[in-house]
Amino acid sequence: MQKRAGVHLIATGGTIAGLAEEENAPQHYTAGVLPAEQLLASVPGLAGVARLTVEQLYSLDSRDMTPEHWRGLARAVHAALARDDVDGVVVTHGTDTLEESAFYVDLVTQSPKPVVFTGAMRPANAPSPDGPMNLLDAVTVAASPEARGLGVLAVLHQRIHAARDITKAWPDRLDAFSSGDCGVVGRTAPIQIFRAVVPREKALPIAPDGPLPRVDVLVIGAGSAPDMLEAAREKGARAVVLALPGNASLPDAWRDAVIVAAKVGVTTVLAARCGNAVPPKMGKRNLPAIVTALPPAKARVASVAALGAGSDPESWLHA
Ligand code: ASP
Repeated sequence: MQKRAGVHLIATGGTIAGLAEEENAPQHYTAGVLPAEQLLASVPGLAGVARLTVEQLYSLDSRDMTPEHWRGLARAVHAALARDDVDGVVVTHGTDTLEESAFYVDLVTQSPKPVVFTGAMRPANAPSPDGPMNLLDAVTVAASPEARGLGVLAVLHQRIHAARDITKAWPDRLDAFSSGDCGVVGRTAPIQIFRAVVPREKALPIAPDGPLPRVDVLVIGAGSAPDMLEAAREKGARAVVLALPGNASLPDAWRDAVIVAAKVGVTTVLAARCGNAVPPKMGKRNLPAIVTALPPAKARVASVAALGAGSDPESWLHA
């Protein structure tokens, strides 16, 4: 008989662990209240899929996650990956900032063992919760040899996404996530892998203890005032991501503010407000700024991860 894979579950809260006060009004609920053991109990067949161990790391609504939580989570993931009895890791997480935590862990992790994030759009006591199915799928993927070497993944609504590409695209749909033009990596039930994920040559170190760098995101609309950049600098931002119109198109009125920021050592990152930027067209802009194809929230993650580890953010913003 084939040996069951070992999967370590790290629970952080989210709607998957949420409870609605009234079962018939599942849109009103508190995230992150059910303990991890109860999540596991909601999927009786799970023990047949993998040998499970469990850790309750946080009990948060993911809107309240911070870069310090990303660092703590990455450390917990690394500790699990180092265990001989663990073949894969599952992280349960709120869907609102799942893509940020998953991308941070992806940037700092190099292991062939699968690390799979999952969550849910409906609380655990909704009439038809999606959490149990997502958890079953995530554990199945984490236990699967087919998922090895694909980097950090997220499994939701029967789709396998790469942490690099996933975005929450709808705040209410059960099928809330998209991987844009890159497309999903595969599907579940049964697992099918559709495309390769090109591994990074190296990972960033996890940021050491101590304060993490402040990185702000400014969303720029037509006529937005460039003194917002100065305000972010004055509040202590080490880098500022500008979420710009079109393909990260900087209004002329902002050029001087970007030049002044560079002179005082603050990195400006030019990102596309709409997410799906076109890399070859982004190029150098004759400006002391980094242009990235990452969507603004992920450009912020990469900047925090790199600056926090004492690295130049440029190559990580092209991750
Ligand atoms: N606000 C919740 C969270 O991010 C939403 C969810 O999990 O779907 O924790």
